Amino acid sequence: MNNDTQRDSQRIVAQSPASGPKPGPARAIALGAAAVAASLFAVVAAFGTVQDSGIPLTTLSIEQQLSPTIEPVSDDSALPYFNEERFQRGDTVATLLDRLGVDDADTRRLMAQPQAAAQFRWLRTGTSVQARTSPEGNLLDLWFVTPFDKLVKIQPRDGSFTAEQQPASLTAEVMMKSGEIRSSLFAATDNANVPDTVAVQLADVFAGDVDFHRDLRKGDRFTVVYEMMSHQGRMVRSGRLLAAEFINQKRVLRAVWFQDEGTKGGYYTPEGKNLRKAFLRSPLEFSRVTSGFAMRFHPLLQKWRAHKGVDYGAPPGTRVKVTGDGVVELAGRQDGYGNVITVRHNSGLTTWYAHLSGFAAGIRKGTRVSQGDVIGYVGQTGWATGPHLHYEFRVNNEHRNPLTIALPAAEPLGAGRVTIFRSITATLVARLDMLRDTNLALLE
Ligand SMILES: [Zn+2]
Repeated sequence: MNNDTQRDSQRIVAQSPASGPKPGPARAIALGAAAVAASLFAVVAAFGTVQDSGIPLTTLSIEQQLSPTIEPVSDDSALPYFNEERFQRGDTVATLLDRLGVDDADTRRLMAQPQAAAQFRWLRTGTSVQARTSPEGNLLDLWFVTPFDKLVKIQPRDGSFTAEQQPASLTAEVMMKSGEIRSSLFAATDNANVPDTVAVQLADVFAGDVDFHRDLRKGDRFTVVYEMMSHQGRMVRSGRLLAAEFINQKRVLRAVWFQDEGTKGGYYTPEGKNLRKAFLRSPLEFSRVTSGFAMRFHPLLQKWRAHKGVDYGAPPGTRVKVTGDGVVELAGRQDGYGNVITVRHNSGLTTWYAHLSGFAAGIRKGTRVSQGDVIGYVGQTGWATGPHLHYEFRVNNEHRNPLTIALPAAEPLGAGRVTIFRSITATLVARLDMLRDTNLALLE
């Protein structure tokens, strides 16, 4: 569907956001004079694609409600050109204006002024920027959505320009993707065109069950159902992960998002069991960087039995999270441990975080901490051959292997809420089922 010829306005409306950012030269599209204020549903379209790597992927776009409102053009004789570009790594405002087809020197000078720079500082890699230019290449107006969901609109006017910021009206679309892990989670999510923020949410949701730094295996599979926020049919950012399936070493884990009255909301199994556990499986922040680092560090690691802790190779400065609610017992220096934090939890449990480069602000003896709080940063203080986190889990001061210990679960859904939970989450579960069936069909 991506040809570079001129399209009429209906064609623009029908462009599926699922097609993603379009690389290549700037497209110039002349808009018709009539305002387009259509709202249409692109009905469920399931299609499987087999990528060059041979990894089967499935992409489904459901209920894409596109409501673009494009302002009418007053002068039919000088139809503006409509251009859209993504801000790319290494881009400057000048290179972006080049690609947007802005040719006039006056505008380019204006856009280099500090007042304009103040607006453009909200551009991020991947931000979609749209502009209208006259046939001569004069900028008529330009707009984009900031990471904080503000619509910035810039309009040159009589040797100056106006800049407005207003809340962008975003539409949530539901995206469904799945993939198989061959080397790393991020390689797999890249292949499936899943945003990093969704990959990290996936790891967070199952953080009580899976140590994403150690437990992943080739052949693990995932399915994610998530919101994608769009503005006038253009994807702006990913939203919340709504449902997920993760098959880790043949163990099937499923999660659906549910917000009960008066609660912050959370993730549950389709049966209504809370996925939040009293402890996270891994104390290390999961990111693109840390996910690749462990493998490189691995040859230096010792066996758990030898030194009664688990070592996580990670770049210096990586954030360390406390794995359960508790109170800091020690934040200081101790022989081989270097900079170490110990946290006391309920039931005689303590956790230890060693070789830190430093402590997070406010972390000292007596500080109350909640699961997932950042308490320190990876370093190599004490007896450490490289930057890594040494993590211990003790029960009544006896070492336990945190990789294998059974961890207590958080409180379940109230008995009276399960029926409501099931009725609300049924569609999400159905989507997971649908993706799984589609995948099976593709694999056969
Ligand atoms: Zn260690």
